[in-house]
Amino acid sequence: MKPFRIDLYSDTQTRPTAEMRKAIAAAEVGDEQNGEDPTIEALRQRICDLLGTEDAVFLPSGTMANEIALLVHCRHGDEVIAHETSHVINFEGGAPAAFAGVMFKPLAGPRGLFDAQALMDALHDDNRYAPPTRLVVVEQTANLGGGTVWPIEQMREVAKVARRADLSLHMDGARLMNAVIASGHKAAEYAALFDTVFMDFTKGLGAPFGAVLAGRKEHIRDAWRWKQRMGGSMRQAGMMAAGCLYALDNHVERLAEDHANAKLLRDSLLRIPDLHVFPVDTNLVYFDVAALGLDAESFNQSLEPYGLRVSVLGKTLVRAVTHLDVSKQDVEEAAEIITQILRQRTAGGAR
Ligand SMILES: *Cc1c(COP(=O)(O)O)cnc(C)c1O
Repeated sequence: MKPFRIDLYSDTQTRPTAEMRKAIAAAEVGDEQNGEDPTIEALRQRICDLLGTEDAVFLPSGTMANEIALLVHCRHGDEVIAHETSHVINFEGGAPAAFAGVMFKPLAGPRGLFDAQALMDALHDDNRYAPPTRLVVVEQTANLGGGTVWPIEQMREVAKVARRADLSLHMDGARLMNAVIASGHKAAEYAALFDTVFMDFTKGLGAPFGAVLAGRKEHIRDAWRWKQRMGGSMRQAGMMAAGCLYALDNHVERLAEDHANAKLLRDSLLRIPDLHVFPVDTNLVYFDVAALGLDAESFNQSLEPYGLRVSVLGKTLVRAVTHLDVSKQDVEEAAEIITQILRQRTAGGAR
């Protein structure tokens, strides 16, 4: 498949930069399973410093991190509370049922967030008919909510209710650093509210591989057993961790550029009559083409001849994502192409 000239499909579409590739090539390596890979050990330490956690484990993907977190916190038949739009419910292939054997209580709430009251309302007393509620999952930023940053106060209130009910807390922090850059809060301030936190390196941070799961010693010890069981233990994977360390050194502050580009795109799209554009906190721009009489799939296809792509996240819901490989000029051009296509459509009376 030929690459798209301007690929707004996802922040997973970044290619490792020349400098990142150099860091990867130069990595010191050893046997990860034995704790002998110095680059992975350095990454684990770095993450513990960043998040203020006792321990961390390097994993191939965020999906594995979320699934291992469920396995660490829950037993078969337990109930997990998460937002109805969350990644762990919608995009992990049914793994929570397949592996941890948990059931979900999905919560509603604007922009991918729920509040302390919604959590309180979802709790039931402990009786033999109801599933034992064990865990609350919070997604920072909330992807399908629109890349929403959880306000720290709302997160604190939710955590307080969860603690009072003796529940564990896991943060899906796939885009945690986007929240950090957008809010000015430290990663450790968010992480302090949770038992386990996962962070992805293959989203806005632009590495080709890797995620970490961090938390208390005993949780990470259990996580290691699941990693081993799932075949996620590695050998000389310091090469991959080197890309992650490089990303932490060089690709965090620049997330502000992605956020600015996303706002720029939103502002341009807002000028298109009838196009519903959602609020933008970070690097994800959602818009709905329903009022234009279009479906998302055919809208996306109409972009293809221009070498432009977005992603389809509903029948009429479209997402455009800014990232390392998308410049301000790219965004301006993308906005122009989209505007032109939609104007032609309205002018043609094809509604
Ligand atoms: C991408 C993503 C994941 C999964 O991460 P992978 O590394 O792609 O497996 C989990 N949660 C959220 C919110 C994500 O966006």
